[in-house]
Amino acid sequence: MTSPLKIAVIGAGIVGVSTALWLRRDGHDVTVFDRIEPGDPAQTSYGNAGLLARAAIVPVPTPGIIKSVPKMLFDADGPLFLRWRYLPKLLPWLVPFLRGSDAATVKRTASALSDILADSVDQHRSIARDTEAERFIETGRYTYLYKDRAAFDKDAFGFGIRAEHGFTWDELDHGALREIDPHLGPDYGFGAALHDHGWISDPGGYVAALFGAYRGLGGQFIKAEVDDIRGGEGQSEVRAGGEAHSFDRVVLASGAWSRQLAERLGHHVNLETERGYHVMMREPSVRPPNPYMIADAKFALTPMAQGVRAAGLVEFGGLKAPPSEAPIALFRRALGRVYPGIEWDSETTWMGHRPSTADSLPLIGESTKARGVYFAFGAQHIGLTSGPKTGRLIADMIGGRRTNLDLSPFRTDRFDGD
Ligand SMILES: Cc1cc2nc3c(=O)[nH]c(=O)nc-3n(C[C@H](O)[C@H](O)[C@H](O)COP(=O)(O)OP(=O)(O)OC[C@H]3O[C@@H](n4cnc5c(N)ncnc54)[C@H](O)[C@@H]3O)c2cc1C
Repeated sequence: MTSPLKIAVIGAGIVGVSTALWLRRDGHDVTVFDRIEPGDPAQTSYGNAGLLARAAIVPVPTPGIIKSVPKMLFDADGPLFLRWRYLPKLLPWLVPFLRGSDAATVKRTASALSDILADSVDQHRSIARDTEAERFIETGRYTYLYKDRAAFDKDAFGFGIRAEHGFTWDELDHGALREIDPHLGPDYGFGAALHDHGWISDPGGYVAALFGAYRGLGGQFIKAEVDDIRGGEGQSEVRAGGEAHSFDRVVLASGAWSRQLAERLGHHVNLETERGYHVMMREPSVRPPNPYMIADAKFALTPMAQGVRAAGLVEFGGLKAPPSEAPIALFRRALGRVYPGIEWDSETTWMGHRPSTADSLPLIGESTKARGVYFAFGAQHIGLTSGPKTGRLIADMIGGRRTNLDLSPFRTDRFDGD
């Protein structure tokens, strides 16, 4: 290893905590900054669906999406929501996002995502080994549920890409699905059960436990909002809570809030929040045997330690607007179709911010404008899955260890010319 460095990590969600833990294990003097405690419900890493979705290599924009957006928006049961007043702000992100839906671009994006997702269950096992976080990792199948085979066939493009990357699945008809899960309703007659997946039984608890392991190794924490970074030539300054702190290296891992800090360094990053929701059902009358993706409604149903969580959907409305009611109402309608008659004792609802770039790829690497500052954000729908590997890659870069992955798709300056 290189000699120990003084390193700041800004943001303590799954990405920041994973990065900090790997850096601390390398012997560096690490300080994490966050305005809230790791594991707090205000983090996106708290309220996600918990999936270690290693096969989620196919980005949201795929061929045909442009035609299906109006239907998704105007159908009362569509999984897409928009606060219309936000549309003018959204367009500079939305236009390139949708433009990237052609087959060749999607295949390139999938290859890059596969590099950071394929071994993600092992990456989680590795970061959590011998820590309190280990007990949150579950493994098994991850089943996409469709109305019938014809509906599955409409997703052939995405599943074809998964097959090209070596993912395998069982195809289950309604009888086979009901044998595994007798409570499943008649609306879902076909399933594609992907092998060798995993999930986290309490994502907030998991982040807190990894953070506990980092603190146990002597890692430091400053609870404050970072309002500026000045970087360059290996000496950087982080301003937080009215004080300036000096570091040899800085890692920006502030999720959907990273754009502003990146701009302080002279970068333009085309990053938006894809708002998502969950309903956490406590003491439900039914539990799925493993996580489901309800393909038409675009949300996951995950068995968790505190109950069953329905999580997903997409709403565009920015970082500041309060949660909407319509997505939660949609969950309730759709849940009745998956499990007719399902009941639960109590529930909590949640809204969070996916950090999504216009090309569906995260930024992972050193800033080209401020040497010694590293970016680790923008992992959209798959940030829980890819967090530990992202942290390991950043620790490798800082430690001077070479990786055999092609990291050029994740370059930090790729939106600067836009
Ligand atoms: C409904 C939903 C379901 C999802 N399901 C899945 C799933 O099943 N699997 C999966 O892999 N991914 C899923 N995701 C995506 C995943 O949750 C995110 O990609 C991931 O949590 C992002 O982690 P992060 O560490 O980058 O950001 P966050 O968890 O949001 O953490 C960022 C942290 O930075 C801090 N911060 C920001 N700015 C500052 C500042 N200036 N100063 C100090 N602190 C700051 C924030 O307080 C926060 O704690 C889902 C997302 C949603 C919304």
